[in-house]
Amino acid sequence: MSTTTSPTNESAGGAVAGAPFDEAEGGDPAVRRVPEGLWRPASFFRSGGDALRESGGVLTCSLCPFECRLRPGDTGRCHVRRRRGDHLETATFATTALHVHPIERKPFYHVRPGSRVLTLAAPGCTFACTYCQNYRLSQFGRTDDAPWTGVSVAPESVVTRAANEGLSIAFSYSEPVLAAELTLALAPLAKAAGVPLLWKTNGFVTEEAAREVAPALTAANVDLKAPGDEAHIRLTGAPVTPVVRALEVWREAGVWLEISTPVIPGFNDDVESLGALARILAAVGPQTPWHLLRFHPDYRLNGAPPTHPDLLERAGEIARAEGLVHVYVERALGDRGRATRCAGCGEPVIERRTEGVRDNRLRDGRCPHCHVAVAGCW
Ligand code: SF4
Repeated sequence: MSTTTSPTNESAGGAVAGAPFDEAEGGDPAVRRVPEGLWRPASFFRSGGDALRESGGVLTCSLCPFECRLRPGDTGRCHVRRRRGDHLETATFATTALHVHPIERKPFYHVRPGSRVLTLAAPGCTFACTYCQNYRLSQFGRTDDAPWTGVSVAPESVVTRAANEGLSIAFSYSEPVLAAELTLALAPLAKAAGVPLLWKTNGFVTEEAAREVAPALTAANVDLKAPGDEAHIRLTGAPVTPVVRALEVWREAGVWLEISTPVIPGFNDDVESLGALARILAAVGPQTPWHLLRFHPDYRLNGAPPTHPDLLERAGEIARAEGLVHVYVERALGDRGRATRCAGCGEPVIERRTEGVRDNRLRDGRCPHCHVAVAGCW
């Protein structure tokens, strides 16, 4: 099994300048179809039973804010949830990947530094981003370039492997929200085995689903691509307001949050946009890690330039001016872009290589020099 990954960013990416691509009509029905044996009962829908009759036969999916209204036989906008009878089914008890990587690669910098994660990813995404580096996985159902590649996963065997090898379990590459049911199936097993569950997510989830899944999650790295709905819709096809609400819900529920933002020249690299994004993070908490990602031309957005390191440097300065303490650039600024510094004395407390940890000087989550606590799941 394999998937397309980026050397610098494992997120499902984003888009720029213009509406997200339309779904290609026609195509090969065979590659746009989930094998029949993979569909499983889904949760997160309204208007079942008597309410279904009262709603005129329409069943509403309540997992993501698109809230697809489905009649019998309909498939949702994400292509991995469908209506059968008076209930929903999901195709995401499946994965294309079973990769083991350093946790820093997700990226999580404040969760078990130096540890490794087992990554799961079923095809599918709620966003349609034109530069997505993982489009062969995420854009299943929208293009023949993204055929179904998932195979069924058994929660017990995934947790057993993670526990035996000392791994966390992460959902990444595609959209974990669509695997909410699998996450909830893994949760009690993972909790009993002491295995953290992590999401690398676009955060586009209804408030009710965000609340329900929160107890299952140790941490989430959430993409935040633009500060306002209009720009975010142009990037992704979806508004950012529900993403910001999910951040609030998860923060209140105690899920550790890190944020990733691709800095895209000509789109969100202006002072106003970066400042507004930084203020959203500051409201989550000034020690919320912010990963500034270098944009790389890819997929349908391959004519735009990559982000210049000077631009990432300036973005970091803007973030610190807004009060953020932990601002990271994974590669373009070398080791200094990856180091964690104490919020109290400014001394480096964790130094990283391009993948993994070079030196972790934290003592019980505190700076060894001034003993100020550094926020995270250590
Ligand atoms: S999760 Fe899929 S089916 Fe449900 S509302 Fe979102 S796009 Fe529609």
